[in-house]
Amino acid sequence: MATFQDVDPATGEPIADIEITSPEALQAAVRAAREAQPAWGDLAFAERKALLLAGAQRLEARADEVATLATREMGKLKSDALREIQGWTGGMDEFLDEIGAAIEPETLPAGDSETALVRDPLGVVAAITPWNFPVGMPLELFLPALGTGNACVFKPSEHVPLVGAALHECFSEGLPDGVFALVQGAGDVGAALVESDVDMVAFVGSRATGIRIMRAASDGLKRLVLELGGKDPLIVFGDADLEAAAECAVRHSLRNTGQVCCSVERVYVSDDVAERFEGLVLEKARAWRHGSGFEDGVKMGPMVSAEQRAKVEAQVKVAVAAGARLALGGETPAGPGYFYPATVLTGVEHAAEITREETFGPVVSLTRFSGDEDEAVRLANDTPYGLGANVYTGDVERGRRVARRIRSGQVGVNRYLGGAKGSPWVGARQSGFGYLGGIEGHRQFTVPKSISYPKV
Ligand code: ADP
Repeated sequence: MATFQDVDPATGEPIADIEITSPEALQAAVRAAREAQPAWGDLAFAERKALLLAGAQRLEARADEVATLATREMGKLKSDALREIQGWTGGMDEFLDEIGAAIEPETLPAGDSETALVRDPLGVVAAITPWNFPVGMPLELFLPALGTGNACVFKPSEHVPLVGAALHECFSEGLPDGVFALVQGAGDVGAALVESDVDMVAFVGSRATGIRIMRAASDGLKRLVLELGGKDPLIVFGDADLEAAAECAVRHSLRNTGQVCCSVERVYVSDDVAERFEGLVLEKARAWRHGSGFEDGVKMGPMVSAEQRAKVEAQVKVAVAAGARLALGGETPAGPGYFYPATVLTGVEHAAEITREETFGPVVSLTRFSGDEDEAVRLANDTPYGLGANVYTGDVERGRRVARRIRSGQVGVNRYLGGAKGSPWVGARQSGFGYLGGIEGHRQFTVPKSISYPKV
């Protein structure tokens, strides 16, 4: 039996040995999913909803246990893990209703004829997820997959196999055999799943893996939803509320130890207010103490792995060698665990590697600019990514104008990005392919079919 080691990033100590799903078992899971899918897809939505809602209730009852597992496996604050779980379980009824609304048949009349527009499930969906939101990301993928009538084979990240297994226990109980399967392992198991007889791959993770998946999925013209990384800018104009902008810059560069796809990754501040703004950022970032995610008063846990930390260390070193000033942090602490402190860099060149490559770590990277509107748009758009952006200005009209010109899926003006309930989660350009959430997002798990007949 082949296994991999599940490691606690706060100590570097092993938690458990996890059995890797064998190629034969993976193929059998996909076959069983295909056999089970038609009957599952034929159920009335209300029946599927009731079964999934029961899954959410089981998760709610196990919230403390699953939050503890999340903190042990990937390091995040336990309070954040609990909020992640309870946010989902609390909003589950509404979320499932939105899925139901997405597949509600429509009637389109035309002269003597009528067309029924229905949305069929695709068949079997592979859901492949990352570790940074170990509960939210899987739910965001497997609930619309199952809710719209697909069967689903779920592979959690190899960094959070026990959280993945707990989610699978909660949501597979009571479902017909084969409809919802779990496979465990790293990228090779993910790749085997993409190449197996699935109809769609729903994926959240890195751009590099997204590109690999798209290539591998092309043989079977498999449908794809890929939510990838970002290099989100935050623009601070001279007339901005600097206090609010600094709070946003710090919180959203450091939250979840910076391991968020829509983190603030680069801050552009107008020359005329830069000194004051940098002072505010420093003052706020000093309060972001790191430590175990179980400890009170700690604001950031460890990074997920030694490799992830090494990438951040290297980026910071290169930025400093190229002339950026290390205003805070930047020193890897001695001792066990993959900790990295809250770090603030000022005077970062726009051309520097750290403003180009995704950092995915607890770094506030500050670059000064002229304060000009066109310049702000040019800097924000000078990246292959397009996940999110944030703009702070005292002139709301200017904020709206700049937001319209930035090429990304979501923009926050004088607040952190994030659409109201019902907005899909979108990545423009190389931050994604397709989208998730909202009626439009749920429909990505279906194919529309028109059935036309003479009017009676
Ligand atoms: P991260 O490690 O930053 O989460 P990845 O994109 O490497 O980002 O991983 C996200 C998910 O994709 C994980 O579940 C991982 O095991 C899986 N994965 C990695 N490589 C592949 C691949 N070639 N094909 C399919 N899945 C993969």
